Amino acid sequence: MQLLKQYSNGTWGRIEDERIDFYIENILKRESWLAPRLKREPMTHKEEVLNYLKTGKELHWDDEWYAKIKMDMSEPPERPVEMVKCDCGHTVSRCMVMSSSTGLSCPECYDRMSM
Ligand SMILES: [Zn+2]
Repeated sequence: MQLLKQYSNGTWGRIEDERIDFYIENILKRESWLAPRLKREPMTHKEEVLNYLKTGKELHWDDEWYAKIKMDMSEPPERPVEMVKCDCGHTVSRCMVMSSSTGLSCPECYDRMSM
């Protein structure tokens, strides 16, 4: 997870990890004022703020027009590949799994498994 803040010249820069809580605390302080104006429930936990940011939206942490943070969505977090043990006995990544007439199969065994 990488959070970005906007500077007064309009550019975005990364927030140092140890500063993240500072921005989130400010956002939470504004929630009781802001949320009713946006017709939604105020967020009360850091987790909620992070989940909100994960949707790609920006949040103000102060009144200045540029006092906003957002999540860097340019590089989606790397997801570990999920491995599946097929009925043929081989273990392959989930996207490789094929469904044959006798069960799950890896691409190599598909023809044999479809007999
Ligand atoms: Zn196989």
